[in-house]
Amino acid sequence: MPAPKTQEKSFRENVNLAFDLALATLDVPEKLGYYIKCGNNVYQVRFPVKINGEVESFIGWRAVHSEHRLPAKGGIRFAPMVSQDEVEALAALMTYKCALVNVPFGGSKGGLVIDPRKYDEEAMERITRRFAFELIKKDYISPAINVPAPDMGTGAREMAWIASTYSAHKPADIDRMACVTGKPVSQGGIRGRTEATGRGVVFGLREFFRHPEDAKLANLQGTLEGKKIIIQGLGNVGYHTAKILQEEDGSKIVGIIEYDGALYDPKGLDVEKVSQFKQNQGGVKGFKGPKYIKEGALLLEEPCDILIPAAMEGVINLDNVQRIKAKLIAEAANGPVTFDAELILRKKGIVIIPDIYLNAGGVVVSYFEWIKNLSHIRFGRMTRRWEESQNEMLIEAIESKGHKISERLANKLRKGSGELDLVRSGLDDTMREAFQKMREYYWRHDQADSYRIAAMAIAIKLIAASYEEQGVYP
Ligand code: NAD
Repeated sequence: MPAPKTQEKSFRENVNLAFDLALATLDVPEKLGYYIKCGNNVYQVRFPVKINGEVESFIGWRAVHSEHRLPAKGGIRFAPMVSQDEVEALAALMTYKCALVNVPFGGSKGGLVIDPRKYDEEAMERITRRFAFELIKKDYISPAINVPAPDMGTGAREMAWIASTYSAHKPADIDRMACVTGKPVSQGGIRGRTEATGRGVVFGLREFFRHPEDAKLANLQGTLEGKKIIIQGLGNVGYHTAKILQEEDGSKIVGIIEYDGALYDPKGLDVEKVSQFKQNQGGVKGFKGPKYIKEGALLLEEPCDILIPAAMEGVINLDNVQRIKAKLIAEAANGPVTFDAELILRKKGIVIIPDIYLNAGGVVVSYFEWIKNLSHIRFGRMTRRWEESQNEMLIEAIESKGHKISERLANKLRKGSGELDLVRSGLDDTMREAFQKMREYYWRHDQADSYRIAAMAIAIKLIAASYEEQGVYP
Protein backbone atom coordinates (compact mmCIF):
# COMPACT_ATOMS: atom_id res chain seq x y z
CA MET A 1 0.00 0.00 0.00
CA PRO A 2 1.50 3.43 -0.91
CA ALA A 3 2.28 5.78 1.98
CA PRO A 4 -0.46 8.36 2.63
CA LYS A 5 0.17 11.60 0.70
CA THR A 6 -1.13 13.77 3.50
CA GLN A 7 1.00 14.32 6.58
CA GLU A 8 -0.93 12.68 9.40
CA LYS A 9 -0.44 12.24 13.09
CA SER A 10 1.25 9.11 14.37
CA PHE A 11 -0.87 6.13 15.48
CA ARG A 12 -0.12 6.92 19.10
CA GLU A 13 -1.09 10.58 18.69
CA ASN A 14 -4.37 9.45 17.10
CA VAL A 15 -5.17 7.25 20.10
CA ASN A 16 -4.20 10.00 22.54
CA LEU A 17 -6.38 12.61 20.83
CA ALA A 18 -9.42 10.37 21.20
CA PHE A 19 -8.39 9.83 24.83
CA ASP A 20 -8.36 13.60 25.44
CA LEU A 21 -11.89 13.99 24.06
CA ALA A 22 -13.12 11.12 26.24
CA LEU A 23 -11.37 12.47 29.35
CA ALA A 24 -13.11 15.82 28.82
CA THR A 25 -16.47 14.09 29.36
CA LEU A 26 -15.36 12.83 32.78
CA ASP A 27 -14.71 14.13 36.23
CA VAL A 28 -11.28 12.48 36.52
CA PRO A 29 -8.35 14.50 37.99
CA GLU A 30 -6.35 15.89 35.07
CA LYS A 31 -3.00 14.60 36.32
CA LEU A 32 -4.32 11.10 36.85
CA GLY A 33 -5.74 11.22 33.33
CA TYR A 34 -2.34 12.28 32.04
CA TYR A 35 -0.67 9.35 33.82
CA ILE A 36 -3.16 6.82 32.42
CA LYS A 37 -2.69 8.19 28.90
CA CYS A 38 1.10 8.11 28.86
CA GLY A 39 1.77 4.43 29.46
CA ASN A 40 4.21 2.75 31.83
CA ASN A 41 7.22 1.31 30.03
CA VAL A 42 8.57 -0.04 26.80
CA TYR A 43 11.42 -2.48 26.27
CA GLN A 44 13.38 -2.45 23.03
CA VAL A 45 15.42 -5.48 22.14
CA ARG A 46 17.88 -6.26 19.37
CA PHE A 47 19.08 -9.83 18.97
CA PRO A 48 20.99 -11.97 16.46
CA VAL A 49 19.82 -15.20 14.80
CA LYS A 50 21.95 -17.36 12.51
CA ILE A 51 20.06 -18.09 9.28
CA ASN A 52 21.70 -20.12 6.51
CA GLY A 53 25.08 -19.59 8.19
CA GLU A 54 24.72 -15.78 8.31
CA VAL A 55 24.01 -13.65 11.37
CA GLU A 56 20.87 -11.52 10.97
CA SER A 57 19.87 -9.01 13.60
CA PHE A 58 16.27 -8.25 14.54
CA ILE A 59 14.68 -5.40 16.45
CA GLY A 60 11.47 -5.61 18.48
CA TRP A 61 9.51 -4.03 21.33
CA ARG A 62 7.16 -4.98 24.15
CA ALA A 63 5.26 -2.01 25.57
CA VAL A 64 3.31 -2.02 28.81
CA HIS A 65 0.72 0.71 28.84
CA SER A 66 -1.08 -0.06 32.06
CA GLU A 67 -0.58 -2.31 35.08
CA HIS A 68 -3.63 -1.28 37.11
CA ARG A 69 -4.56 -4.96 36.64
CA LEU A 70 -2.06 -7.78 36.18
CA PRO A 71 -1.08 -9.50 34.02
CA ALA A 72 -0.83 -6.95 31.24
CA LYS A 73 -2.22 -8.48 28.07
CA GLY A 74 -1.74 -7.94 24.36
CA GLY A 75 -0.68 -9.53 21.11
CA ILE A 76 2.67 -9.83 19.40
CA ARG A 77 2.81 -8.54 15.84
CA PHE A 78 5.29 -9.66 13.19
CA ALA A 79 5.37 -7.15 10.32
CA PRO A 80 7.98 -5.25 8.30
CA MET A 81 6.78 -1.77 9.31
CA VAL A 82 6.40 -2.28 13.07
CA SER A 83 7.68 0.67 15.12
CA GLN A 84 7.85 1.67 18.78
CA ASP A 85 5.09 4.25 18.23
CA GLU A 86 2.81 1.58 16.77
CA VAL A 87 3.48 -0.89 19.59
CA GLU A 88 2.81 1.78 22.22
CA ALA A 89 -0.43 2.81 20.49
CA LEU A 90 -1.59 -0.81 20.34
CA ALA A 91 -0.69 -1.34 24.02
CA ALA A 92 -2.82 1.69 24.95
CA LEU A 93 -5.77 0.31 22.94
CA MET A 94 -5.40 -2.96 24.88
CA THR A 95 -5.74 -1.12 28.18
CA TYR A 96 -8.99 0.56 27.14
CA LYS A 97 -10.33 -2.57 25.44
CA CYS A 98 -9.82 -4.78 28.50
CA ALA A 99 -11.46 -2.23 30.79
CA LEU A 100 -14.44 -1.77 28.46
CA VAL A 101 -15.21 -5.49 28.17
CA ASN A 102 -14.53 -6.08 31.85
CA VAL A 103 -11.52 -8.35 31.49
CA PRO A 104 -9.15 -7.98 34.48
CA PHE A 105 -5.95 -7.23 32.56
CA GLY A 106 -3.66 -4.27 32.01
CA GLY A 107 -2.63 -3.37 28.46
CA SER A 108 0.47 -4.43 26.58
CA LYS A 109 1.63 -5.15 23.03
CA GLY A 110 4.70 -6.47 21.27
CA GLY A 111 6.11 -6.19 17.80
CA LEU A 112 9.01 -7.53 15.79
CA VAL A 113 10.26 -5.98 12.54
CA ILE A 114 10.12 -8.91 10.16
CA ASP A 115 8.40 -10.00 6.97
CA PRO A 116 7.31 -13.56 7.88
CA ARG A 117 6.78 -14.38 4.20
CA LYS A 118 10.55 -14.18 3.63
CA TYR A 119 11.52 -16.97 6.06
CA ASP A 120 10.85 -20.69 6.13
CA GLU A 121 9.26 -22.39 9.13
CA GLU A 122 12.57 -23.42 10.68
CA ALA A 123 13.93 -19.86 10.58
CA MET A 124 10.64 -18.47 11.93
CA GLU A 125 10.80 -20.87 14.86
CA ARG A 126 14.35 -19.84 15.74
CA ILE A 127 13.54 -16.13 15.49
CA THR A 128 10.32 -16.45 17.52
CA ARG A 129 12.00 -18.49 20.25
CA ARG A 130 14.87 -16.04 20.51
CA PHE A 131 12.53 -13.03 20.71
CA ALA A 132 10.47 -14.88 23.35
CA PHE A 133 13.58 -15.66 25.38
CA GLU A 134 14.66 -11.99 25.35
CA LEU A 135 11.21 -11.01 26.68
CA ILE A 136 11.10 -13.82 29.27
CA LYS A 137 14.49 -12.70 30.67
CA LYS A 138 13.00 -9.30 31.56
CA ASP A 139 9.58 -10.58 32.75
CA TYR A 140 7.88 -9.25 29.62
CA ILE A 141 6.41 -12.75 29.27
CA SER A 142 5.04 -14.45 32.39
CA PRO A 143 1.63 -15.89 33.43
CA ALA A 144 1.34 -13.38 36.29
CA ILE A 145 2.86 -10.26 34.75
CA ASN A 146 2.62 -10.14 30.97
CA VAL A 147 0.78 -12.52 28.67
CA PRO A 148 1.08 -12.17 24.87
CA ALA A 149 -1.34 -13.47 22.21
CA PRO A 150 -1.45 -13.54 18.40
CA ASP A 151 -1.75 -10.43 16.26
CA MET A 152 -0.91 -9.55 12.67
CA GLY A 153 1.62 -12.03 11.26
CA THR A 154 1.44 -14.43 14.22
CA GLY A 155 -0.93 -17.25 15.14
CA ALA A 156 -1.27 -20.48 17.11
CA ARG A 157 2.04 -21.81 15.74
CA GLU A 158 4.07 -18.89 17.14
CA MET A 159 2.19 -19.02 20.45
CA ALA A 160 3.09 -22.74 20.81
CA TRP A 161 6.77 -21.87 20.28
CA ILE A 162 6.55 -19.09 22.87
CA ALA A 163 4.88 -21.41 25.42
CA SER A 164 7.48 -24.07 24.77
CA THR A 165 10.34 -21.56 25.20
CA TYR A 166 8.84 -20.32 28.47
CA SER A 167 8.35 -23.90 29.73
CA ALA A 168 11.98 -24.74 28.90
CA HIS A 169 13.20 -21.79 30.98
CA LYS A 170 10.67 -22.02 33.84
CA PRO A 171 9.79 -25.74 34.15
CA ALA A 172 8.91 -25.38 37.84
CA ASP A 173 6.24 -22.78 37.17
CA ILE A 174 3.07 -24.86 37.44
CA ASP A 175 1.11 -22.16 35.59
CA ARG A 176 3.58 -22.01 32.73
CA MET A 177 0.95 -22.73 30.05
CA ALA A 178 -0.78 -19.47 31.01
CA CYS A 179 2.27 -17.46 29.85
CA VAL A 180 0.69 -16.91 26.44
CA THR A 181 -2.78 -17.33 24.88
CA GLY A 182 -3.94 -18.27 21.41
CA LYS A 183 -2.08 -21.60 21.60
CA PRO A 184 -3.22 -24.67 19.66
CA VAL A 185 -5.85 -26.64 21.63
CA SER A 186 -3.41 -29.56 21.92
CA GLN A 187 -0.92 -27.20 23.63
CA GLY A 188 -3.23 -25.80 26.29
CA GLY A 189 -5.24 -23.54 24.01
CA ILE A 190 -8.99 -23.17 24.13
CA ARG A 191 -11.61 -24.09 21.54
CA GLY A 192 -12.92 -21.01 19.78
CA ARG A 193 -9.85 -18.79 20.25
CA THR A 194 -8.79 -18.74 16.60
CA GLU A 195 -12.19 -17.49 15.44
CA ALA A 196 -12.76 -15.35 18.55
CA THR A 197 -11.94 -11.89 17.23
CA GLY A 198 -13.98 -12.41 14.05
CA ARG A 199 -16.87 -13.98 15.94
CA GLY A 200 -16.74 -11.09 18.42
CA VAL A 201 -16.99 -8.64 15.50
CA VAL A 202 -20.13 -10.44 14.34
CA PHE A 203 -21.62 -10.55 17.86
CA GLY A 204 -20.97 -6.80 18.08
CA LEU A 205 -22.63 -6.11 14.74
CA ARG A 206 -25.64 -8.26 15.64
CA GLU A 207 -26.06 -6.26 18.85
CA PHE A 208 -25.85 -2.98 16.91
CA PHE A 209 -28.73 -4.10 14.67
CA ARG A 210 -30.77 -5.14 17.74
CA HIS A 211 -31.09 -1.41 18.48
CA PRO A 212 -33.07 0.15 15.60
CA GLU A 213 -32.41 3.69 16.82
CA ASP A 214 -28.66 3.01 16.61
CA ALA A 215 -28.92 1.40 13.17
CA LYS A 216 -30.89 4.47 12.07
CA LEU A 217 -27.88 6.66 12.88
CA ALA A 218 -26.16 4.90 9.98
CA ASN A 219 -29.26 4.96 7.79
CA LEU A 220 -29.61 1.21 8.18
CA GLN A 221 -32.38 -1.05 9.36
CA GLY A 222 -33.27 -4.71 9.79
CA THR A 223 -30.61 -7.31 10.44
CA LEU A 224 -27.31 -8.31 8.89
CA GLU A 225 -29.15 -10.42 6.32
CA GLY A 226 -28.56 -9.16 2.78
CA LYS A 227 -26.32 -6.30 3.90
CA LYS A 228 -23.61 -5.46 1.35
CA ILE A 229 -20.21 -5.74 2.98
CA ILE A 230 -16.67 -4.89 1.87
CA ILE A 231 -13.86 -6.31 3.96
CA GLN A 232 -10.17 -5.44 3.93
CA GLY A 233 -7.74 -8.19 4.97
CA LEU A 234 -8.64 -11.87 4.76
CA GLY A 235 -6.34 -12.95 7.58
CA ASN A 236 -7.35 -14.35 10.94
CA VAL A 237 -9.81 -11.60 11.87
CA GLY A 238 -11.11 -10.78 8.39
CA TYR A 239 -11.60 -14.38 7.29
CA HIS A 240 -13.64 -15.44 10.33
CA THR A 241 -15.68 -12.24 10.30
CA ALA A 242 -16.54 -12.59 6.61
CA LYS A 243 -17.22 -16.32 6.79
CA ILE A 244 -19.54 -16.09 9.80
CA LEU A 245 -21.39 -13.10 8.32
CA GLN A 246 -21.90 -14.97 5.06
CA GLU A 247 -22.79 -18.40 6.45
CA GLU A 248 -24.70 -17.57 9.63
CA ASP A 249 -26.18 -14.13 8.97
CA GLY A 250 -26.81 -14.20 5.21
CA SER A 251 -24.78 -11.03 4.57
CA LYS A 252 -23.40 -10.43 1.09
CA ILE A 253 -19.62 -10.06 0.97
CA VAL A 254 -19.35 -7.97 -2.20
CA GLY A 255 -15.69 -6.97 -1.87
CA ILE A 256 -12.48 -8.40 -0.44
CA ILE A 257 -9.33 -6.27 -0.35
CA GLU A 258 -5.94 -7.90 0.10
CA TYR A 259 -2.39 -6.53 -0.08
CA ASP A 260 -2.06 -7.61 -3.76
CA GLY A 261 -5.38 -6.23 -5.02
CA ALA A 262 -9.12 -6.55 -4.48
CA LEU A 263 -12.03 -8.68 -5.72
CA TYR A 264 -15.48 -7.24 -6.32
CA ASP A 265 -18.76 -8.91 -7.20
CA PRO A 266 -22.09 -7.17 -6.45
CA LYS A 267 -23.75 -10.60 -6.32
CA GLY A 268 -21.42 -11.70 -3.49
CA LEU A 269 -18.12 -13.57 -3.24
CA ASP A 270 -17.56 -17.06 -1.86
CA VAL A 271 -15.40 -16.29 1.18
CA GLU A 272 -14.20 -19.86 1.67
CA LYS A 273 -13.11 -20.23 -1.96
CA VAL A 274 -11.26 -16.89 -1.94
CA SER A 275 -9.56 -17.83 1.33
CA GLN A 276 -8.47 -21.24 -0.02
CA PHE A 277 -7.12 -19.54 -3.14
CA LYS A 278 -5.24 -16.97 -1.04
CA GLN A 279 -3.72 -19.70 1.11
CA ASN A 280 -2.50 -21.62 -1.93
CA GLN A 281 -1.40 -18.69 -4.10
CA GLY A 282 -0.35 -16.20 -1.41
CA GLY A 283 -2.84 -13.53 -2.55
CA VAL A 284 -6.10 -12.90 -4.40
CA LYS A 285 -4.67 -11.91 -7.80
CA GLY A 286 -5.67 -14.50 -10.40
CA PHE A 287 -8.88 -15.59 -8.67
CA LYS A 288 -11.32 -16.36 -11.49
CA GLY A 289 -14.77 -14.78 -11.74
CA PRO A 290 -15.15 -11.51 -9.87
CA LYS A 291 -13.71 -8.19 -11.04
CA TYR A 292 -10.06 -7.74 -10.00
CA ILE A 293 -8.88 -4.28 -8.93
CA LYS A 294 -5.12 -3.87 -8.89
CA GLU A 295 -5.12 -0.82 -6.60
CA GLY A 296 -7.09 -2.71 -3.94
CA ALA A 297 -7.49 0.20 -1.51
CA LEU A 298 -9.75 1.93 -4.06
CA LEU A 299 -12.46 -0.56 -3.10
CA LEU A 300 -12.63 1.08 0.34
CA GLU A 301 -14.34 3.93 -1.51
CA GLU A 302 -17.10 1.82 -3.12
CA PRO A 303 -20.66 2.30 -1.76
CA CYS A 304 -21.70 -0.48 0.66
CA ASP A 305 -23.71 -0.94 3.83
CA ILE A 306 -20.79 -1.99 6.03
CA LEU A 307 -17.09 -1.48 5.44
CA ILE A 308 -14.94 -3.73 7.62
CA PRO A 309 -11.26 -2.81 7.69
CA ALA A 310 -9.62 -5.94 9.14
CA ALA A 311 -6.00 -5.54 8.07
CA MET A 312 -4.06 -2.65 9.58
CA GLU A 313 -4.11 0.89 10.95
CA GLY A 314 -4.48 4.21 9.14
CA VAL A 315 -6.17 2.91 5.98
CA ILE A 316 -8.99 5.48 6.14
CA ASN A 317 -7.19 8.77 6.32
CA LEU A 318 -7.21 12.35 5.01
CA ASP A 319 -6.27 11.10 1.53
CA ASN A 320 -9.38 9.01 0.94
CA VAL A 321 -11.91 10.00 3.61
CA GLN A 322 -13.91 12.34 1.38
CA ARG A 323 -14.55 9.47 -1.04
CA ILE A 324 -15.70 6.90 1.57
CA LYS A 325 -19.34 5.98 0.91
CA ALA A 326 -20.05 3.15 3.37
CA LYS A 327 -22.90 3.73 5.81
CA LEU A 328 -21.22 1.96 8.71
CA ILE A 329 -17.53 1.32 9.39
CA ALA A 330 -16.88 -1.68 11.61
CA GLU A 331 -13.32 -1.48 12.92
CA ALA A 332 -12.16 -5.09 13.08
CA ALA A 333 -8.51 -3.97 12.78
CA ASN A 334 -6.86 -1.73 15.35
CA GLY A 335 -6.79 1.95 14.42
CA PRO A 336 -7.95 1.72 10.78
CA VAL A 337 -9.52 5.22 10.83
CA THR A 338 -7.27 8.16 11.73
CA PHE A 339 -8.45 10.79 14.20
CA ASP A 340 -8.71 13.55 11.56
CA ALA A 341 -10.53 11.26 9.11
CA GLU A 342 -13.04 10.33 11.80
CA LEU A 343 -13.96 13.98 12.35
CA ILE A 344 -14.85 14.22 8.65
CA LEU A 345 -16.73 10.90 8.62
CA ARG A 346 -18.83 12.11 11.53
CA LYS A 347 -19.83 15.22 9.55
CA LYS A 348 -20.75 12.96 6.63
CA GLY A 349 -23.03 10.93 8.93
CA ILE A 350 -20.96 7.74 8.65
CA VAL A 351 -21.07 5.75 11.88
CA ILE A 352 -18.02 3.94 13.26
CA ILE A 353 -18.12 1.00 15.66
CA PRO A 354 -14.69 1.42 17.25
CA ASP A 355 -11.84 -1.08 17.52
CA ILE A 356 -11.59 -1.00 21.31
CA TYR A 357 -15.07 -2.44 21.43
CA LEU A 358 -15.50 -4.40 18.22
CA ASN A 359 -12.30 -6.45 18.07
CA ALA A 360 -12.21 -7.22 21.80
CA GLY A 361 -13.39 -10.81 21.19
CA GLY A 362 -9.80 -12.00 20.95
CA VAL A 363 -8.82 -10.78 24.39
CA VAL A 364 -12.11 -11.96 25.91
CA VAL A 365 -11.46 -15.54 24.79
CA SER A 366 -7.79 -15.17 25.71
CA TYR A 367 -9.04 -14.42 29.22
CA PHE A 368 -11.02 -17.69 29.15
CA GLU A 369 -7.91 -19.53 27.94
CA TRP A 370 -5.78 -18.00 30.70
CA ILE A 371 -8.34 -19.09 33.32
CA LYS A 372 -8.43 -22.58 31.79
CA ASN A 373 -4.64 -22.79 32.05
CA LEU A 374 -4.61 -21.59 35.67
CA SER A 375 -7.35 -24.01 36.67
CA HIS A 376 -5.75 -26.86 34.69
CA ILE A 377 -9.10 -28.17 33.48
CA ARG A 378 -11.16 -27.84 30.32
CA PHE A 379 -14.42 -25.90 30.68
CA GLY A 380 -17.40 -28.26 30.79
CA ARG A 381 -15.35 -31.34 31.67
CA MET A 382 -17.08 -31.89 35.01
CA THR A 383 -20.54 -30.66 34.06
CA ARG A 384 -21.35 -31.77 30.51
CA ARG A 385 -22.62 -35.31 31.22
CA TRP A 386 -24.32 -34.14 34.39
CA GLU A 387 -26.22 -31.49 32.40
CA GLU A 388 -27.15 -34.13 29.83
CA SER A 389 -28.61 -36.47 32.46
CA GLN A 390 -30.53 -33.59 34.07
CA ASN A 391 -31.93 -32.53 30.69
CA GLU A 392 -32.88 -36.14 29.91
CA MET A 393 -34.87 -36.30 33.16
CA LEU A 394 -36.60 -33.04 32.25
CA ILE A 395 -37.61 -34.40 28.84
CA GLU A 396 -38.91 -37.60 30.47
CA ALA A 397 -40.90 -35.62 33.04
CA ILE A 398 -42.52 -33.45 30.33
CA GLU A 399 -43.31 -36.43 28.13
CA SER A 400 -44.73 -38.44 31.06
CA LYS A 401 -47.43 -35.76 31.24
CA GLY A 402 -48.46 -36.54 27.67
CA HIS A 403 -46.59 -33.69 25.91
CA LYS A 404 -44.59 -35.10 23.02
CA ILE A 405 -41.33 -33.22 22.33
CA SER A 406 -40.08 -33.38 18.75
CA GLU A 407 -36.89 -35.37 18.22
CA ARG A 408 -35.10 -32.25 16.93
CA LEU A 409 -35.96 -30.20 20.03
CA ALA A 410 -35.25 -33.15 22.35
CA ASN A 411 -31.78 -33.53 20.85
CA LYS A 412 -31.11 -29.83 21.31
CA LEU A 413 -32.36 -29.93 24.90
CA ARG A 414 -30.43 -33.09 25.72
CA LYS A 415 -27.05 -31.67 24.77
CA GLY A 416 -24.78 -30.65 27.65
CA SER A 417 -22.48 -27.69 27.01
CA GLY A 418 -18.92 -28.36 25.91
CA GLU A 419 -16.01 -25.95 25.89
CA LEU A 420 -16.82 -24.34 22.53
CA ASP A 421 -20.47 -23.73 23.52
CA LEU A 422 -19.37 -22.08 26.76
CA VAL A 423 -16.70 -19.96 25.08
CA ARG A 424 -19.09 -18.69 22.42
CA SER A 425 -21.80 -18.03 24.98
CA GLY A 426 -19.39 -16.11 27.24
CA LEU A 427 -18.13 -14.10 24.28
CA ASP A 428 -21.65 -13.27 23.07
CA ASP A 429 -22.68 -12.16 26.54
CA THR A 430 -19.59 -9.96 26.93
CA MET A 431 -20.00 -8.31 23.52
CA ARG A 432 -23.69 -7.61 24.09
CA GLU A 433 -23.15 -6.15 27.52
CA ALA A 434 -20.26 -3.94 26.43
CA PHE A 435 -22.25 -2.60 23.45
CA GLN A 436 -25.14 -1.76 25.72
CA LYS A 437 -22.85 0.15 28.09
CA MET A 438 -21.24 1.98 25.18
CA ARG A 439 -24.50 2.99 23.50
CA GLU A 440 -26.03 4.06 26.80
CA TYR A 441 -23.09 6.40 27.48
CA TYR A 442 -23.28 7.68 23.90
CA TRP A 443 -27.01 8.49 24.09
CA ARG A 444 -26.77 9.96 27.60
CA HIS A 445 -23.79 12.28 27.23
CA ASP A 446 -23.95 15.10 24.68
CA GLN A 447 -20.20 15.52 24.79
CA ALA A 448 -19.60 11.89 23.84
CA ASP A 449 -20.53 12.35 20.21
CA SER A 450 -19.28 9.00 18.93
CA TYR A 451 -19.20 5.41 20.13
CA ARG A 452 -15.41 5.68 20.33
CA ILE A 453 -15.49 8.57 22.79
CA ALA A 454 -18.17 6.78 24.80
CA ALA A 455 -16.18 3.52 24.88
CA MET A 456 -12.98 5.29 25.91
CA ALA A 457 -14.73 7.32 28.58
CA ILE A 458 -16.16 4.16 30.17
CA ALA A 459 -12.70 2.60 30.14
CA ILE A 460 -10.90 5.65 31.56
CA LYS A 461 -13.47 5.98 34.34
CA LEU A 462 -12.90 2.38 35.42
CA ILE A 463 -9.11 2.62 35.26
CA ALA A 464 -9.09 5.90 37.18
CA ALA A 465 -11.38 4.42 39.85
CA SER A 466 -9.05 1.46 40.13
CA TYR A 467 -6.02 3.70 40.73
CA GLU A 468 -7.94 5.84 43.19
CA GLU A 469 -9.14 2.82 45.17
CA GLN A 470 -5.78 1.06 45.21
CA GLY A 471 -3.80 4.20 45.98
CA VAL A 472 -0.57 4.84 44.15
CA TYR A 473 2.05 2.26 45.14
CA PRO A 474 4.46 2.46 46.97
P1 NAD B 1 -3.31 -11.46 9.93
O1 NAD B 1 -1.86 -11.28 9.70
O2 NAD B 1 -3.85 -12.80 10.23
O3 NAD B 1 -4.15 -10.90 8.69
C1 NAD B 1 -3.96 -9.64 8.11
C2 NAD B 1 -4.46 -9.74 6.68
O4 NAD B 1 -4.44 -8.46 6.08
C3 NAD B 1 -3.56 -10.64 5.81
O5 NAD B 1 -4.37 -11.48 5.01
C4 NAD B 1 -2.77 -9.65 4.97
O6 NAD B 1 -2.38 -10.18 3.72
C5 NAD B 1 -3.77 -8.52 4.83
N1 NAD B 1 -3.16 -7.23 4.58
C6 NAD B 1 -2.00 -6.74 5.08
N2 NAD B 1 -1.79 -5.51 4.62
C7 NAD B 1 -2.82 -5.21 3.83
C8 NAD B 1 -3.18 -4.07 3.06
N3 NAD B 1 -2.40 -3.00 3.03
N4 NAD B 1 -4.33 -4.09 2.38
C9 NAD B 1 -5.12 -5.18 2.39
N5 NAD B 1 -4.84 -6.29 3.10
C10 NAD B 1 -3.71 -6.30 3.80
O7 NAD B 1 -3.66 -10.41 11.08
P2 NAD B 1 -4.93 -10.43 12.04
O8 NAD B 1 -4.55 -11.14 13.28
O9 NAD B 1 -6.13 -10.83 11.29
O10 NAD B 1 -5.00 -8.88 12.42
C11 NAD B 1 -5.62 -7.93 11.58
C12 NAD B 1 -5.96 -6.68 12.38
O11 NAD B 1 -6.81 -7.06 13.48
C13 NAD B 1 -4.77 -5.97 13.02
O12 NAD B 1 -5.04 -4.59 13.07
C14 NAD B 1 -4.74 -6.54 14.43
O13 NAD B 1 -4.09 -5.68 15.34
C15 NAD B 1 -6.22 -6.63 14.70
N6 NAD B 1 -6.58 -7.58 15.77
C16 NAD B 1 -6.23 -8.88 15.72
C17 NAD B 1 -6.63 -9.75 16.74
C18 NAD B 1 -6.34 -11.23 16.70
O14 NAD B 1 -6.86 -11.96 17.57
N7 NAD B 1 -5.58 -11.75 15.77
C19 NAD B 1 -7.34 -9.26 17.84
C20 NAD B 1 -7.71 -7.91 17.86
C21 NAD B 1 -7.32 -7.09 16.82
